[in-house]
Amino acid sequence: MKIFAPKETDPAETRASLDPAAVKKLVSLGAEVIIESCIGEHCDHPDLAYTAAGATITTDRSGALGSADLITRVRKPSLDEISLLKAGAIHISFLDPFNQMDLITRFAGQKVSAISLEMIPRTTLAQKMDAISSQANLSGYVAVIVAANSMNTIFPMMMTPAGTISPTKVFVLGIGVAGLQAIATAKRLGARVTAFDVRPEALEQAESLGAKALRVDLGETGATDQGYAKELTPEQLEKQIKAQAKVCAQSDIVITTAKVFGRKPPILIKKDVVDSMQYGSVIVDLAAENGGNVEGIISGKETVTANGVKLIGLANFEGRVSKHATQVLAANFSNMIEHFWDKEAAVFKINPADEILKGCLITHDGAIVHERFKS
Ligand code: NAD
Repeated sequence: MKIFAPKETDPAETRASLDPAAVKKLVSLGAEVIIESCIGEHCDHPDLAYTAAGATITTDRSGALGSADLITRVRKPSLDEISLLKAGAIHISFLDPFNQMDLITRFAGQKVSAISLEMIPRTTLAQKMDAISSQANLSGYVAVIVAANSMNTIFPMMMTPAGTISPTKVFVLGIGVAGLQAIATAKRLGARVTAFDVRPEALEQAESLGAKALRVDLGETGATDQGYAKELTPEQLEKQIKAQAKVCAQSDIVITTAKVFGRKPPILIKKDVVDSMQYGSVIVDLAAENGGNVEGIISGKETVTANGVKLIGLANFEGRVSKHATQVLAANFSNMIEHFWDKEAAVFKINPADEILKGCLITHDGAIVHERFKS
């Protein structure tokens, strides 16, 4: 089976879908791995490292796309590049499927089996291929480092002969994978951390990391069978926004990570709350790429409000630690391929009835097969 990993085309993307370690694993399975030249230029993997691991390097992107049996890539492809793929090929990447009906339709028309990394079930069996988690974990870390770099103060409390420096106060909003890592990183640096999530079990996890949980009685909040939070009612949202306003005003750093699966992230920090924060404080919005949790945030940009609050909405936070982000993402890819590898035939075998594939296989055999996108 011929596996091709093209170079990412989005200028903001620094990660690669495969690293040399993943190539080595795939070659040991019996796959032929082809890598587009310079795929690892932004994550410290030269072409030579890929060839040493057993890959072939190509500069013929279109030719390789047209002949590959399986394509791995980080970001979704363009419609034009889908047209180059051969019928029966398998394509694995982030797809943003809820917002990409054109792409899904084109995959089906081209008879390509498209697997969406976002849709991999959050189950124990699929954990090793859970790219959302592997990347969110790093983005939570980066959010704190970016915030720390933007502050003119330090994180830990220091008692010195010249007086006491108070610890930085960090508020983490949304305690999923990214939020938990943000809490752990801020605590390690010595900050005083408060955290909030609509899922009560997440508050307990935050407390176990040494954060103070903000408890707000919102009534029944609920979660999906995958453990995702459900969208709040407008009344619940209003109550939450009011309850957390004081914590925001007293915080030096606010990190927002709140997402609702398949929907736009909720706006949780409105302009009046931003205006109430101290001069020099920082808000990092990890949901910015999809619209953000903060009123006025701009994806891919750092802005400063009239009252001196820095709003950081940089996109692709995990891409700032591209070598490690690539390491774990490439491991997700190679784990998935290994999991579905038919040793005798040396191919990735698709069984649409498989529990994991039922969750993440969007198109197959010329049709949209995923329940959520069929209609
Ligand atoms: P996510 O990125 O979709 O959302 C981030 C957080 O935002 C979540 O904790 C969510 O509860 C929270 N949120 C939503 N609306 C909010 C609001 N109004 N205010 C504050 N917070 C709000 O979540 P994620 O990090 O991808 O994790 C989703 C779930 O999946 C979690 O329960 C997590 O524990 C679970 N999970 C399971 C596995 C596994 O079993 N293999 C792996 C990873 C994650």
